[in-house]
Amino acid sequence: MESICPIDSLCANEISALLTPPSPLQVQEYYDKLLSARKCSSVIVKQDGKFGKGVYAAMDFKEGEFILKDQMLVGAQHSSNKIDCFVCSSCFRFIGTVELQIGRKLYLQELGASRSHGCDIGDLSNTSEYCHEIDSSDGEDSFMEREENTGECASGSSEAKVRLPEGVVESLMNGHMMLPYSKEFSLPSVVPCPGGCGEAYYCSTSCAEVDWNSSHSLLCTGEKSDTACREALLKFVKHANETNDIFLLAAKAISFTIVRYHNLKASHLVEQGKYDTSCVSNHCDLSVLLEAWRPISMGHKRRWWDCIALPVDINSSDESAFRMQIRDLAFESLQLLKRAIFDKECEPCILPDAKLVIYAFIDLVVASPVEDYFLYIDDLTYPEKEEADKITKPILDALGEDYSICCQGTAFFPLQSCMNHSCCPNAKAFKREEDRDGQATIIALRSICKGEEITISYVDEDLPFEERQASLADYGFRCRCPKCVEEEP
Ligand SMILES: [Zn+2]
Ligand SMILES: [Zn+2]
Ligand SMILES: [Zn+2]
Repeated sequence: MESICPIDSLCANEISALLTPPSPLQVQEYYDKLLSARKCSSVIVKQDGKFGKGVYAAMDFKEGEFILKDQMLVGAQHSSNKIDCFVCSSCFRFIGTVELQIGRKLYLQELGASRSHGCDIGDLSNTSEYCHEIDSSDGEDSFMEREENTGECASGSSEAKVRLPEGVVESLMNGHMMLPYSKEFSLPSVVPCPGGCGEAYYCSTSCAEVDWNSSHSLLCTGEKSDTACREALLKFVKHANETNDIFLLAAKAISFTIVRYHNLKASHLVEQGKYDTSCVSNHCDLSVLLEAWRPISMGHKRRWWDCIALPVDINSSDESAFRMQIRDLAFESLQLLKRAIFDKECEPCILPDAKLVIYAFIDLVVASPVEDYFLYIDDLTYPEKEEADKITKPILDALGEDYSICCQGTAFFPLQSCMNHSCCPNAKAFKREEDRDGQATIIALRSICKGEEITISYVDEDLPFEERQASLADYGFRCRCPKCVEEEP
């Protein structure tokens, strides 16, 4: 089902150029460049006519061996998860201290927490349906840690929690109260956004710089922001938080393209020896825009409202009404974003992307040091454990089951998104002890020979044949892997 979009007519040619899938040659060039820029020689990406892109081993791997780390191109923490986890807005590492993580979470929960953060306690009724869609929006996201989706909107969960005495939360937050053994779990210190928004925080000045130069300069609501209209930006963020935070990720992808466009254009001018930028035209240079758009175009498939999985509570007879509804939502979001980061030259890229055609979003999961901390305390022996418990037990009771919530969001991983599915995969996405950030780590499940395709499973490969095929239908294909061929009735 393809919807006709009224804004398509505005920049029809540019939009169709942007939405045209990259040619096999462009794909090859892009990935060769990406792998060499990342100094990654363990794999290559090849395009084949039948299955599209695939990732192939460029060396032999042993069982359990590390294959690659995939740095996300754009990613965002779920709005609802921001209450539970305080992480770097660029690399998604937990920041501050264990005490700050706990104190901040309890503080925000007590506050009846941040209506501005979308699907929280007060507003659950009308927004939760959209929060949950994110995880099923495109299917491709679900092969990582699917079972860990428990944190979504979890701050609203209402199991009995025991409140801490007055002042404890405050002293946890301001560093006056130190928990036993928390030094074992040191985290990077908090670097606030240089734009002054008070929304984005980082693990280092370099992460702050990377994020600023990638997209945050346009999306920052602070005083030093380059946004065209701060008020419009605030409205856009509010709308996204109240409806679907995937719009925030789309905004990052668009801003990323706009910033890249201007950088590329400037560097082309320097190459051509035109240093005086005052006489340069401010017309859209489509070839530069396409180049700026290329990384994002690698993840394109269908329009978001056409491929998002139908929520379970929506009857299939209401499907078209549902799709119209979320399409309207995307338009609404687009109008707000356009006013906030309007850029005449890059207008065409604001239009198609707000249609959210990125399909290759994958769940982003980073384990919580708070969970590790309480497990550590639990593992202590007498008398240390008893001593520590006196302090930590009330805090654990106050947190309830929420103590273990991990950082969750959505991201576009350029390499992992090229990996094809198999029900008997030879690799999997796996977070090792040292992988405490938002990068995707791929490890070998068995020995892999040089030249062999690297496959991962998008679904639970232990499900019966029919159930696997049904789940994979969401991805638009019927699996013909050796296991499926063998089990086909
Ligand atoms: Zn960072
Ligand atoms: Zn900022
Ligand atoms: Zn299969």
